[in-house]
Amino acid sequence: MGNPKAFLDIPRQEAGYRPIHERIADFSEVEQTLNSSERKLQASRCMDCGVPFCHWACPLGNRPPEFQDALSHSRWREAYEILIRTNDFPEFTGRVCPALCEKSCVLKLSIDSPVTIRENEAAIIEAAFREGYVVAKKYARNGLKVAVIGSGPAGLATANQLNRLGYEVTVFEKDEYIGGLLRFGIPNFKLHKAIIDRRVKIMESEGICFKVKSNIDLEHLPEGFAAYAICTGTPEARNLEVPGRELRGIHFAMEILAQQNRLLAGQKFGDEEFITAKDKKVLVIGGGDTGSDCIGTVNRQGAVGVCQIEIMPQPPVGYNPLTPWPQWPNVLKTSSSHEEGCIRRWNLATNRFLGTEDGRVCGVEVEEVEWISVSENRKQMSLTGKKEIIEADLVLLAMGFLKPQFPQLPQNVWIVGDAATGPSLVVKCIAAGRKAAKEIDAMLQSNN
Ligand SMILES: Cc1cc2nc3c(=O)[nH]c(=O)nc-3n(C[C@H](O)[C@H](O)[C@H](O)COP(=O)(O)OP(=O)(O)OC[C@H]3O[C@@H](n4cnc5c(N)ncnc54)[C@H](O)[C@@H]3O)c2cc1C
Ligand code: SF4
Repeated sequence: MGNPKAFLDIPRQEAGYRPIHERIADFSEVEQTLNSSERKLQASRCMDCGVPFCHWACPLGNRPPEFQDALSHSRWREAYEILIRTNDFPEFTGRVCPALCEKSCVLKLSIDSPVTIRENEAAIIEAAFREGYVVAKKYARNGLKVAVIGSGPAGLATANQLNRLGYEVTVFEKDEYIGGLLRFGIPNFKLHKAIIDRRVKIMESEGICFKVKSNIDLEHLPEGFAAYAICTGTPEARNLEVPGRELRGIHFAMEILAQQNRLLAGQKFGDEEFITAKDKKVLVIGGGDTGSDCIGTVNRQGAVGVCQIEIMPQPPVGYNPLTPWPQWPNVLKTSSSHEEGCIRRWNLATNRFLGTEDGRVCGVEVEEVEWISVSENRKQMSLTGKKEIIEADLVLLAMGFLKPQFPQLPQNVWIVGDAATGPSLVVKCIAAGRKAAKEIDAMLQSNN
């Protein structure tokens, strides 16, 4: 333990974001970093609880008390080695994880001021890259080949773990870059794409073969592999089938997010396919994280106004008695993108889109809803009849993704990550990849 009384004297200090006027003018990462002395102090707040709920809450089973202890004593290399025992890619989770661990930290439950576990994780892995601790290793080969289809966090973790166990791994990716939603969903201002490239380079040096622009037909898997991991995510977004959906200017969130990420990678788009929020009034339908990423993106593109609507009621601020620990706290989340400017509204259903004579969207009719309790745990939505028009000349649908259905697959095929569970989190997909790799190894070793 860093300092048994540190939690009494040292307040939680977050690194915070770059100033709004500065960050809104670019797509660079918004989160700042603390210096190493401040970081050590933050790590010293960990009380090394007898029963540390944080690593129970982390889907990867990360060991925060152990790495906080090493960090608080400046043993950065040791902290890094503890971290990578359970997490293949702390540079991703350290940036984008919603930190399930922190919601379970005893300092959260007692004084609402958890250890900055996620930020400390990011600091450790970035120090490890800077200091040259992260180097490609060579692993003895066992003569067996495994195919991984899809290169999001689930595919990358499955490939990484199998490669270490000696398998010859080929990752097939239909897009032109590796990374899945890390690459094309999550905006640069949360996760810079150089962070993915840096990791992929190491994985390539360690022997993993990446084949981009390889759209695999899941009914006819490539031959010559002892096992297959299907890590193809949730490609189908939830649609909003109301009158006017066909109007121009209504897009799925992923259309604009992926295009923006491609533009930043230097790709060009013709007028027909180019989507921009410049000088537009934008309406984002869907109050979750994807919607928040749309807000950050359109503000950077030069939108004149952004409104985000959600059909569910506004969650309480700070603490929600309906979702006590160990449940995930359903509380109001204000992201860096929300801070940058948008109107947020709740309890609104979308009735129809309104269009101009030339077929472009110009507004949306919404209707207020009420949520009426029908039993202790269930509420039913009821329309109130209070309708209004929200003006919008760009509408982005951010209402989640559908869980894919797969045909009956042979025994040597695993479905991993969001493809198996429906939309989840990067940390859960890395955990799923690690688990799948263990199971694939067990199956192949028992066959040989
Ligand atoms: C906009 C957005 C923001 C998000 N932000 C966060 C966040 O901040 N924090 C967080 O924890 N989670 C976040 N998520 C969720 C997270 O990104 C996903 O849960 C995670 O990426 C899913 O990983 P995956 O590997 O299962 O699939 P994906 O990341 O979806 O990757 C699947 C890959 O498979 C490829 N593929 C599909 N079909 C084929 C085929 N037939 N052949 C070859 N390749 C194929 C796809 O091209 C893709 O590259 C966000 C999601 C979105 C949409
Ligand atoms: S991966 Fe996420 S939940 Fe796990 S320790 Fe890191 S920040 Fe916490």
